[in-house]
Amino acid sequence: MTGLWPPLREELRGVAPYGAPQLDVPVCLNVNENPYPPSRAVVDDVAGAVTLAASTLNRYPDREFTELRRGLAAYLSGDAGFTISTEQVWAANGSNEVMLQILQAFGGPGRTAISFAPTYSMYPEYARDAMTTWVAGRRHEDFSFDLDEAARLVDEHQPSVILLPSPNNPTGTALPHEVIGELCAIAPGIVVIDEAYAEFRRAGTPSALELLPEQRNLVVTRTMSKAFALAGARLGYLAAAPELCDALRVVRLPYHLSAVTQAVANAALRHTDELLGKVDELRAERDRTVEWLVDEGFEVAPSDANFVLFGRFDDREAVWQGLLDRGVLIRVTGPDGWLRVSIGTPTEMKAFKDALREVAT
Ligand SMILES: *Cc1c(COP(=O)(O)O)cnc(C)c1O
Repeated sequence: MTGLWPPLREELRGVAPYGAPQLDVPVCLNVNENPYPPSRAVVDDVAGAVTLAASTLNRYPDREFTELRRGLAAYLSGDAGFTISTEQVWAANGSNEVMLQILQAFGGPGRTAISFAPTYSMYPEYARDAMTTWVAGRRHEDFSFDLDEAARLVDEHQPSVILLPSPNNPTGTALPHEVIGELCAIAPGIVVIDEAYAEFRRAGTPSALELLPEQRNLVVTRTMSKAFALAGARLGYLAAAPELCDALRVVRLPYHLSAVTQAVANAALRHTDELLGKVDELRAERDRTVEWLVDEGFEVAPSDANFVLFGRFDDREAVWQGLLDRGVLIRVTGPDGWLRVSIGTPTEMKAFKDALREVAT
């Protein structure tokens, strides 16, 4: 302690807290939320479940969140087409917390986690918070995965964690099975495929869940924040071999999932079909948005997610500000020159297109 106050860890000094601007504007297309709020029926069921949970709030919640794990396992089994057991499922307050727990358990001092840019900007922060060395390789120019570069870096750094979103944020690029299989084969540790946007993938794009039976070092994370339209509830989860889930129980905080969170998520899972009911519409709107942007002469990254990365702009900050001045909030992220727009309702997308025409064409 050299008299500096507050006595922060060296590597945290001068670091600004991460976060997209939370601005009160008419059209919010910046954090990839599902634009459709829950229906009356879902609201009533969630409220009833919370009321019930409230009557026992003097007690700690179920530490193993068994009912919730069962519900999530059932949902994932439906998506995967084979049975994923309760012991293969883990959950926490958002998949961001799941990711931090993964790094706390499988990273740590003297160990390395690796990803490939451009990718999710939160990962290096979790690595830092878990005292894990962070190495970022590169993707190809078109954002597809560079397996040769990956093999080279894995060999050089021997990472205990490889962390990859599929579809990737912010590019929307999904990983083919061959890439995931090869990474699992060469990885000395675990391979985490962050499928936060999996439900939005195009027909023919596979889910990494399908590889679970053959890859014992594979971890597939999911979230209720995006397709499930439940970002406010904070519930993320994963599927992996039971021994990997067991390891996470060592680092989780006691009773990390509150009784209220568990009640809300359980109630939401009873309405899975309805909550996911807008996903097809959003996928179609995504495809229309890509087409429109291409027609307007922009460069567009093909997307399997509920957002689109487009460019390129000499001054992307100016375009972002021009849209904001017209009541449309999107995101400055990804490589220089590119912007990301989340898929909203048709009305919101019209506002986006009108504003973009004014600002950038
Ligand atoms: C949005 C997002 C998540 C989800 O985070 P939650 O904590 O579950 O809300 C995870 N990974 C990526 C790449 C994302 O973009």
